[in-house]
Amino acid sequence: MDNKQQNNGNSQNQEPRTQNDSTQSNNTPRERRPNPHRQNRTEGQGQNSNRPNPNANRKPNPNPNRKPNPNKDVNGNVQDKEAPNGNRKPNPNQNRNRNNNQNRNNTNSDKRPNNNNRPNNNRNNNKPNNNKSGGNKNRNKRRNITTVNDTMREYLEINDRVKEATMNPWKNIDMASKGKIRFTPLGGLGEIGGNMAVLETETTAIIIDVGMSFPDETMHGVDILVPDFSYLHTLKKEKDVYVIITHGHEDHIGAMPYLFKELQFPIYATPLALAMIENKFNEHGLSQYVKNFNYVTMRKQHQIGDMKIEWMHNTHSIIDACSLAIETPAGTIIHTADFKVDHTPVDNYTMDLRRFAHYGEKGVLCLFSDSTNSHNPGATRSEKVVGKTFDTLFELAKGRILMSTFSSNVHRIVQAMERGVRYGRKICVIGRSMERNIETNRALGFVDIEDKHFIEVHEVPKYADHEVLIVTTGSQGETMAALNRMATDEHRHIKLKPSDTVIISASAIPGNEASVSSLLNKLMKAGCTVRYREFADIHVSGHAGQEEQKLILRLIQPKFFLPVHGEYNHIAKHARTAVECGVDERNILLMGDGDQIELTPKYLKKVKTVKSGKTYIDNQNNMTIENDVVLDRQKLAEDGIINVVAQISQSNQKVVGKPVISTHGIVPDKDDKKFQKEIEVLLETMLLNMKPEALKNHKDIENDIRAVVRKHVVRTKKRYPLIIPTIFIV
Ligand SMILES: [Zn+2]
Repeated sequence: MDNKQQNNGNSQNQEPRTQNDSTQSNNTPRERRPNPHRQNRTEGQGQNSNRPNPNANRKPNPNPNRKPNPNKDVNGNVQDKEAPNGNRKPNPNQNRNRNNNQNRNNTNSDKRPNNNNRPNNNRNNNKPNNNKSGGNKNRNKRRNITTVNDTMREYLEINDRVKEATMNPWKNIDMASKGKIRFTPLGGLGEIGGNMAVLETETTAIIIDVGMSFPDETMHGVDILVPDFSYLHTLKKEKDVYVIITHGHEDHIGAMPYLFKELQFPIYATPLALAMIENKFNEHGLSQYVKNFNYVTMRKQHQIGDMKIEWMHNTHSIIDACSLAIETPAGTIIHTADFKVDHTPVDNYTMDLRRFAHYGEKGVLCLFSDSTNSHNPGATRSEKVVGKTFDTLFELAKGRILMSTFSSNVHRIVQAMERGVRYGRKICVIGRSMERNIETNRALGFVDIEDKHFIEVHEVPKYADHEVLIVTTGSQGETMAALNRMATDEHRHIKLKPSDTVIISASAIPGNEASVSSLLNKLMKAGCTVRYREFADIHVSGHAGQEEQKLILRLIQPKFFLPVHGEYNHIAKHARTAVECGVDERNILLMGDGDQIELTPKYLKKVKTVKSGKTYIDNQNNMTIENDVVLDRQKLAEDGIINVVAQISQSNQKVVGKPVISTHGIVPDKDDKKFQKEIEVLLETMLLNMKPEALKNHKDIENDIRAVVRKHVVRTKKRYPLIIPTIFIV
């Protein structure tokens, strides 16, 4: 769940401007290109003048202000954007310019409309002029201009065309293809986390990730949220359905057990992601579904239904994370999933950018890309910088060190453990998810630290304080996590000491700020040295900033772009970045959960909305909490409750005895009696005005009571409490 992070180290990501940069800003390479126009007026005419220009009528328009996307010139909306010759129309001005090379006597040349946007107008402005035989004074002043002949011009034009084609590799897509696919996000849009989406052809549907998310503070007693699976029930009847997992983060696999309690499909993922799903299945008593596992190999296309899917290694805050290249009947889809571009990852396995380039070169119909950090300019820092910060912090620490981070960020944990070993500390791992993840990663060979460096929690007191490193859960201030229990002195084995250094190598996920703050209060009250945000590199995000998003956009240069993973503001910002990188803005759609998008080589459009939403889960018993329960809890929390119990005599339409009226969360105890009296009076008035036959139906009377009590409370208290009348007719 490593999510957003303040990019407070931006300045460190930006290269200092060198002198070279500043010179170039005034004198760009473009301006140094030869200018045939000028040459025409100053150079001798005879050169190659008889040579036909084979491309005279097919000049590219090298206008630097024009977007390379030819769709700009095509009318219509998101419909067919293919206009193969949109930019290939001969440009009359340009033609004239280049043909004018043969017309050196054109004394009006300076009066022609000056096509300032064309780079070749500037070609070689500043180049020395060797021409000594100029015709007039002005020409004599321009000295040392490079000779530009027809051959050179021809090659310039060819290169212009090559560059033009390079900018639009998606034109290689088979436009005649009748393939049609649909994409439906069911989680992860309009929110951070809870990622799940469906990609469908006529016969096959793949579910990409099955993640969970966290509730907001109005969802009382709810521990996690899982996506609504209704649409998958429909799909199962119609198509072959498969689950495709990109990586093992909770917001990508956390809802798997809940899905499998309802529906089972074959699952495809890398070994670590499957091992983490297996842990979840075991915990939920679903171990029989391990038979649905299919291990995948990176750099290999797996035939899944009528799609070919390749897992491409990327860098993220978990090991074995992948992006997807999906060949569909409509064309190739690239889904980055969560990623950043770490050129110096801890394990030295970088993102497989060559594979991205490979698919980009072949032509990609649509790119789906991670928008989590789309507001962060620059690039996210490498995971390795955290190791350097650990060096400093381990150097400074005199007593025990307690390091807390996301339990899935094994590279972070390994970096801390390696420092522990180097500084002669024994490692004690505390916290269920941390222990389980480290165990799994050690079993899979991702953590290479010998057994002898680890100790059990009960062994901690045997070692001097400066010989202990505790790696633990709870960096988000979770109440039940080990670090919080230590901070509240509830942990069975570890009591905090003022000499302890606590490193929180994480940032608060949105929504967790208050609990993190509360944890910091407790740790500081205990007298510990807390290392949190004062060191910029104590935590780095696992998600791409703008420059990395641009790199992927440029490597893929897709026809269509659908930003995913983020709230509306994140995907909208990512869309702006994509437009800057040459994607036609009419070829971008901002989706919400439940939107179904149809994609063909010719168009991209929203076709319908399917049922989406969240199911509430109580983690204490792994059970679903129904919507009405959560709604009642909200009402109780915000507006309180009124119980009215009364016996009503059928004969005289009066309350028999005294009604029992109890309230919670509406009036203070001292006003209880007064309020009860008010309700009694209301009840009596209501009964007096009631038609005798109305007394025959309990439900009607109860509804009437509810209505009058509500009216009164709204008028006097401005509240909408839960009102529960119970009536006995005697
Ligand atoms: Zn992730």
